[in-house]
Amino acid sequence: MLYVGCHLSASGGNLEMVRTAESIGANTFAFFTRNPRGSQARKEDPEDCAKAVEALKAGSFGPLVAHGAYTMNLCTAQPEAREFAASILCDDLRRMAALPGNYYNFHPGSHVGQGTDVGIAQICDALKKALAPGYPVTVLLETMAGKGSEIGGRFEELKAIIDGVGDDSVGVCLDTCHVHDAGYDVVNDLDGVLAEFDRVIGLDKLKALHVNDSKNPFESHKDRHEILGEGSLGVSAFARIVNHPVLGKLPMILETPNELPGYAKEIALLRQLAGE
Ligand code: FE
Ligand code: FE
Ligand code: ZN
Repeated sequence: MLYVGCHLSASGGNLEMVRTAESIGANTFAFFTRNPRGSQARKEDPEDCAKAVEALKAGSFGPLVAHGAYTMNLCTAQPEAREFAASILCDDLRRMAALPGNYYNFHPGSHVGQGTDVGIAQICDALKKALAPGYPVTVLLETMAGKGSEIGGRFEELKAIIDGVGDDSVGVCLDTCHVHDAGYDVVNDLDGVLAEFDRVIGLDKLKALHVNDSKNPFESHKDRHEILGEGSLGVSAFARIVNHPVLGKLPMILETPNELPGYAKEIALLRQLAGE
């Protein structure tokens, strides 16, 4: 059985997200740990977390893939802003401890002209500090489209972060739209891309997928998601992904331009492609 779901609004709490997921045929989901474009976090509710943990178990959910705020840039140039981003990371990981065993995915950051090496060192710094307490959460670096000064458009950059942190609790979330836009041909050469991932990072580090089609052509470095089958990746690419022996076992999160009914259709499509 595939673990497939989508991004859900966290405003009603964790248990409500589990119920919403179930209503659209999902058995995993993603949510923003705080306002995706700001820094405001929800009030903590241990009772809601405990109920959600029970419901996830009862519903045989796969690992959840929480998403850090887009505004959290661990390698921004101003020291105070960087420190603020690092403090948000710490707080997010501490909060994730109330939902043990799940993933926390985030965009590595944009070096804004400081250079890739400086940016990677700053990201490693923040991660080393945040991971020190040993929370029961695996952090996932997202593969990026390589837009502007974004770090994470090349597998080598993610590998440098993983090695720089030197902690087993760092893995990778592969976004199909992003890698395609970055110039990894998951449409015509999925096996070649995965062989490259394995050579550079190691496939054992791949923990989750963002399953998105792309509005833009191959290697466009753009990052605009599209509904499955309506973009430049196409349905057959997703058929190969869900039926792949390694990829098919990972939690798959839709981040397509959709509301719940559209997500329900895409979840059904992926299950159908997998022969469920
Ligand atoms: Fe993302
Ligand atoms: Fe993504
Ligand atoms: Zn994206």
